[in-house]
Amino acid sequence: MKKKIIVCGGGGFIGGHLVKIFLEQGHQVRAVDRKPQTAWYQRHAGAENLTLNLQHLDSCMTALQGADECYNLAADMGGMGFIENNKALCMLSVLINTHLLVAARALGVSRFFYASSACVYAAYKQTETENPGLKEEDAYPAMPEDGYGWEKLFSERMCRHFMEDFGITTRVARFHNVYGPFGTFDGGREKAPAAICRKIINAKLSGNHTIEIWGDGRQTRSFMYIDDCTKGIQAIMNSDIIEPINLGSDEMVSINKLVDIVEDIAKIKVVRNYNLDAPKGVRGRSSDNTLIKQLLGWAPDICLYDGMEKTYAWIYDQIKSGTSKDSIYNIG
Ligand code: NAD
Repeated sequence: MKKKIIVCGGGGFIGGHLVKIFLEQGHQVRAVDRKPQTAWYQRHAGAENLTLNLQHLDSCMTALQGADECYNLAADMGGMGFIENNKALCMLSVLINTHLLVAARALGVSRFFYASSACVYAAYKQTETENPGLKEEDAYPAMPEDGYGWEKLFSERMCRHFMEDFGITTRVARFHNVYGPFGTFDGGREKAPAAICRKIINAKLSGNHTIEIWGDGRQTRSFMYIDDCTKGIQAIMNSDIIEPINLGSDEMVSINKLVDIVEDIAKIKVVRNYNLDAPKGVRGRSSDNTLIKQLLGWAPDICLYDGMEKTYAWIYDQIKSGTSKDSIYNIG
């Protein structure tokens, strides 16, 4: 069945990929983002593209006119460097989800997806590098990432109560680090996979093979390739799962291992300067995928090495051609 789908944050990384997929599936798509369209990572001509600040209720009412489904990917966010230094900005994203829910209720939108994060998980469950994987119940008793994580946890509950009290069908996924082409790789909002690709590409191109690593490199994470993420989002949206659920990879690696992988792809070795004062986040984090495997049969298809090869190649082309993060990628 063809639907009218609204992708909020459609000018961003994950939103841009979702817009492409929904268009390919034949849906009518409206992409909405606050950034000027010249700064969208992907702008698809087949979609209706709107520039609106979704912190405001009237913009949310405009965005959701005629919608069957809303995917809320809009948020002020970035890697650890951004979220540790911009807690108030991150928390202001609460206005986006709140006003989108209010508008969705007023306009009778039948399904609503909210992009939550592994940053909702309690810090005291993530103090060791050997993390067995965070289960959905590990979000409580709550001690999420300050700022960004509290906003995500609050917005998750807002979705829950709009469903219970007002009958809107809401679905919530907790993304663990997502990476891939058509995302940010410089400027301060980039996350570890893109930042490490950029540093190693610059080392290769400049001949200066020393790079900075944030922390001691032994902190652990898992990284999900964008195509696995977009498949998972659709599966969760179309499911009857009413509780927030993990959407991430369970292939846990240290940051040092991630650097090893990129060195191998780039075919160079780098000297690693560890900056112990840089933002590092929690010590160890991975996704426990027991629930999503059991309920949806979802598991990542793309291993870290293969996904990083594609990501590296895309970032390499951007840097080599002098494309900045603000350049537009117009897609026909
Ligand atoms: P992104 O920054 O590339 O995209 C977010 C988009 O939201 C941006 O284009 C931004 O301009 C837009 N936006 C911000 N404020 C807005 C506003 N007031 N009105 C309209 N648009 C606004 O980020 P992303 O990686 O695509 O992340 C999408 C969602 O997934 C976010 O909610 C993020 O918190 C969540 N998430 C992402 C990751 C990840 O690893 N990428 C991990 C966990 C959760």
